Amino acid sequence: MTDVAQNLVEVQGLVKAAAERVGRSVDEVTLVAVSKTWPVEHVQLAVDAGQKILGENKLQEGQVKIPAMDQSLEWHFIGGLQRNKVRKVLGLFQCVHSIDSLKLARYADGVAADMGVKPKVLLQVNIGAELSKGGFELDEIRESFAEVMQLGNLDVKGLMCIPPAVSTPDQARPFFKAMVTLRDELASQHGVDLPELSMGMSGDFEVAIEEGATMVRVGSSIFGGRSYPVG
Ligand SMILES: *Cc1c(COP(=O)(O)O)cnc(C)c1O
Repeated sequence: MTDVAQNLVEVQGLVKAAAERVGRSVDEVTLVAVSKTWPVEHVQLAVDAGQKILGENKLQEGQVKIPAMDQSLEWHFIGGLQRNKVRKVLGLFQCVHSIDSLKLARYADGVAADMGVKPKVLLQVNIGAELSKGGFELDEIRESFAEVMQLGNLDVKGLMCIPPAVSTPDQARPFFKAMVTLRDELASQHGVDLPELSMGMSGDFEVAIEEGATMVRVGSSIFGGRSYPVG
């Protein structure tokens, strides 16, 4: 078994254990393997080990890897999205986790209409209210939500967050709880289904699952540390 295959098995085991600790089924959690910075041959090791859902944060990397790999794979765009990249991103990726403003939602809706597609999207929330981070602020998402849900060309599946950097996974827990509360509030006030919560990365995906994550975005625990040269 390659290191990547071994890592994948370990992460899958941790996902399952975290789900079972809180009485959830492992089937409720989608593992998105974040392959950013890694070349096709390295990403292929995870695919060979059975991983079918991959995440990238840059269009340019997707443009290289997506056409070069098996066409049955599902690709999620998880990075900051500039308007001038929306059309190409919607052409390549099946799900966008990072709709981070009403303006971007409106714009993406227009592009999707023009392309005749209805992409799955998540609304990114700046749950830690950090000045340096993108995403809807809490008051913003409450104000804009009705309009976003009326955009007919976006299939809004739920919310996504990147919580503030903390020193232990447990310190991220309040942010994950706040995401669940926000999702429940929006869903009930607007009478809509918001099934997906994309939260949790290598450092904190187990805690995120315990709190209700339905999608975890795990990179370095599967592919290796990105600060080291590709071996
Ligand atoms: C890189 C990245 C991840 C994965 O991070 P790891 O710590 O390597 O698991 C998850 N989400 C986003 C938005 C990212 O950019």
